Amino acid sequence: MIHFVGAGPGATDLITLRGASLLGEADVVIFAGSLVNPELLSLAPEGCTVHDSSRMTLEQVIDVMAEATHANKDVVRLHTGDPSLYGAIHEQMMRLDELGIPYDDTPGVSSMCAAAASIGAEYTLPGVSQSLIVTRLAGRTPVPELAAHGSSMAIFLSAGLLNEVQAELLCGAYDEETPAAIVYKATWPDEHVVRTCVGRLAEDGERAGIRATALILVGDFLKAKGERSRLYDPTFSTGFRGATHANGRATGFSSQRRSNDIALVSFSDMGQELAERLAADLGGQAWRCEPGGLAQWTSEAFAKSAALVFVGATGIAVRAIAPHLRDKATDPAVISVDEQGRFAIPLASGHLGGANDLARRIEEACGAHAIITTATDGRGVFAVDEWARHQGCVVANPERIKIVSAKLLAGKVVRLQSDYPLPDDTPAGVVAITTEACQQRCVSHHSPDIVLSPRSNIGAGALHVVPRVLVAGVGCKRGTPANLLVERLRTTLRQAGYDARALSRVCSIDVKADEPGILAMCAEFDVPFETFSAEELAKTPGSFSSSSFVRDAVGVDNVCERSAVLGSGGGTLVWPKEAGDGITLALAERPFAPDWRWSRG
Ligand code: SAH
Repeated sequence: MIHFVGAGPGATDLITLRGASLLGEADVVIFAGSLVNPELLSLAPEGCTVHDSSRMTLEQVIDVMAEATHANKDVVRLHTGDPSLYGAIHEQMMRLDELGIPYDDTPGVSSMCAAAASIGAEYTLPGVSQSLIVTRLAGRTPVPELAAHGSSMAIFLSAGLLNEVQAELLCGAYDEETPAAIVYKATWPDEHVVRTCVGRLAEDGERAGIRATALILVGDFLKAKGERSRLYDPTFSTGFRGATHANGRATGFSSQRRSNDIALVSFSDMGQELAERLAADLGGQAWRCEPGGLAQWTSEAFAKSAALVFVGATGIAVRAIAPHLRDKATDPAVISVDEQGRFAIPLASGHLGGANDLARRIEEACGAHAIITTATDGRGVFAVDEWARHQGCVVANPERIKIVSAKLLAGKVVRLQSDYPLPDDTPAGVVAITTEACQQRCVSHHSPDIVLSPRSNIGAGALHVVPRVLVAGVGCKRGTPANLLVERLRTTLRQAGYDARALSRVCSIDVKADEPGILAMCAEFDVPFETFSAEELAKTPGSFSSSSFVRDAVGVDNVCERSAVLGSGGGTLVWPKEAGDGITLALAERPFAPDWRWSRG
């Protein structure tokens, strides 16, 4: 049996009683050596075999687990804090499921709780913030997007990136004065707390010499004296006392990239016929709603699908999606179509989520009139979010979309600075300047409202539209751990000055097609992995560094540079091969020629 156990944040008496007792009976312990306090190992019985997972690959960890299980031994897999937070337990559990090895999971005190305790803070202060965002820098969801609401925030795994954290926070709802704290090794003997504010985060963290094993806490909860809690207010009835329970919001919302699925739902035979026809035309799946089943269907479709189409009364759709709506950057497109197919009404995520486009496609498919209500479309004004989507770009800080749209709707000019030349048919209200011209200062020096660039240092105050132009070419020794590859790619992107969202794919040679570390890295960056044969790579035109060692091993003199350039469709090598830790990495930029398509409603 395998027991995943949360070791707690560091102090040896902050492991749970259950965790300690499992540890006391373990035959084998695998502990995350980089973060778990080794003193906890004294709880393990004498003769227990101990492995430090920070020196092991996932495969080696699973091998140890499998071997011990076959010998009828109990294994404790000790993770820092609580295993459910950045513990990488899911991948282990999946392998164990495949092998039919049973396991259980004992929670622990997360460092997030310990850090709050260390500074005597409550994340959820009435009247200040009722939400806590748990995140890390360079996750798939950009921090500013999350920060847009000014919630309390606990940022993991990012103490080495304080400059970037500070810049991202300032793009969101936080300002320089927003209180912040860096809590280093909460509950360890050498715990250290730096209280600061967002504007001085990097400077103060650097002065304290903190680079790892720290949490960054941000938000007004760190300073404010909030209102008293209504929970203990005698005039307020909770659900437990029989009054209305404010519990409408579903929490299972997935911020992960959605599939391209369109989920359609209908409520009558006539509606079902239309739903099936649309599903066939648009590529989607039509469901006939069972009585009482709509809430469940909506909650699943909202989390997983790119678009939801309700074939029936608009009121049904509005009520069903209401509990799930978060913001336009992450919500799926939602459309209501009447069962006779006369009208297609985008209800949410018209631009970024593509609901307006989908309504137009439904118009084409069944003749329903698309009722477009977004202001920019109604007035024929440039819709920057829709344009970005059609150019295959990611909007890094979607909370600024409304600022750009408001300017245009008020008849003001917006300045777009682009790393790429744009055709002359610029939409009304937009002034486009190339970055090169800006740098040569041949144009007046206004700061841009929109920046179209894959680079990371675009400066604050502009809407950042990131073209997905970057291709990483990679080679590595068999069995290179995923975390090494991920860190390496992240560091290289940073050093090369690129926004990680610009990465569109990872490429390599075909013998690496099943390399677990590279596959895991692609999953982490949410990009596809493409491989080429040695012959294809050898034929790639260009000048590349050459290694006879690599040629002897795989039949072509260079893998990373050649595969990056080949995968970029004739792009340019922008970061030549860099080798280290058994990994070689190169970056290429694919050609990108933006135009103004889809910019007008
Ligand atoms: N599962 C763990 C988190 C693992 S990720 C938990 O629940 O706490 C590792 C990150 O957690 C570190 O980079 C750091 O940001 C944070 N962390 C872990 N232990 C910590 C501690 N004692 N004090 C502050 N941060 C800690």
